[in-house]
Amino acid sequence: MNNHHVYEKLINITSEQNVMVNEPLKNHTYTRLGGRADLLVTPETYEQVREIVKLANEEGVPFTLLGNGSNLIVKDGGIRGIVMNLNKLNEIKTDGTKVIAQSGARIIDTSREALKQHLTGLEFACGIPGSVGGALYMNAGAYGGEVKDCLESAIVIDRNGDLLSLNADELDLEYRRSNIPDKGYIVLEGTFALEEGNYEEIKAIMDDLTFKRESKQPLEYPSCGSVFKRPPGYFAGKLIQDSGLQGKQIGGAQVSLKHAGFIVNKDNATADEYIRLIRHVQSTVKDKFGVTLEREVRIIGEDLE
Ligand SMILES: Cc1cc2nc3c(=O)[nH]c(=O)nc-3n(C[C@H](O)[C@H](O)[C@H](O)COP(=O)(O)OP(=O)(O)OC[C@H]3O[C@@H](n4cnc5c(N)ncnc54)[C@H](O)[C@@H]3O)c2cc1C
Repeated sequence: MNNHHVYEKLINITSEQNVMVNEPLKNHTYTRLGGRADLLVTPETYEQVREIVKLANEEGVPFTLLGNGSNLIVKDGGIRGIVMNLNKLNEIKTDGTKVIAQSGARIIDTSREALKQHLTGLEFACGIPGSVGGALYMNAGAYGGEVKDCLESAIVIDRNGDLLSLNADELDLEYRRSNIPDKGYIVLEGTFALEEGNYEEIKAIMDDLTFKRESKQPLEYPSCGSVFKRPPGYFAGKLIQDSGLQGKQIGGAQVSLKHAGFIVNKDNATADEYIRLIRHVQSTVKDKFGVTLEREVRIIGEDLE
């Protein structure tokens, strides 16, 4: 790939301020580790998103979508080609009892907007640090609620750059997954169907969930949240704790002392250290309890050469 040629084309589609070259992705991910993106582009309109997808297709350039970087580990060798971040597409609107949020808006802000409008249904999302696009992709959820419960529809772009309007059930939302990766969709916006509620009651629920999160999660360190999905019939954190792994460290990565389901970047960890610790946890729990821990967090990019 001729990076300079692609860079020029990206600037023509967006603008110079919207294209970063050799950008460290540790500045864009919650784990604060990993390598660089050849080209990081932040489009400001849906049309620009479509043109960038078409450019990547036409030029045969690798293309990666980054949300808010809260469920990703980027390997130390970084990501080749174009990385697109939609954080400048972040408008949140209300229409009656519906909240319509662009994919780069934070799901936390979407939940706060619902509160402001006295709408109930998105309280569960008040502490999930992802974007709306990432929340649909992962069917994010917490404390008994998930995106699937309140998502009505979504606007996406498919692999060819065509705009589609989909009902929520067309995204096959299940526990921490959707068909978005299989279909290659890029989410542009989501419409959440909520109900009228009482401001004080909604706020009380959100305050309670925030208190629970802050007291149980190691939010003082960079991390990617819960590393593993909940294995049927078990809790990942409890299995890890009972395997004696709490506090286990590889390089700067550590199984959190506060919540065993989290791995924190305690001291300038590399992605390689973080990933080796994930594998060590998986194999130890498998040996001790015969349970397979499936990763919730996604690992992308290349190893260092
Ligand atoms: C401290 C902490 C607490 C967390 N708590 C929770 C929790 O309670 N519940 C929970 O479910 N998760 C939780 N998470 C994980 C994370 O916030 C969610 O998975 C979130 O939905 C990820 O969104 P993101 O925008 O950060 O996605 P990213 O991590 O940037 O990306 C994740 C995947 O989504 C894809 N993606 C992103 N945007 C789009 C888009 N517009 N269209 C298509 N694909 C897209 C990316 O390509 C990538 O494959 C937590 C994470 C942290 C760090």
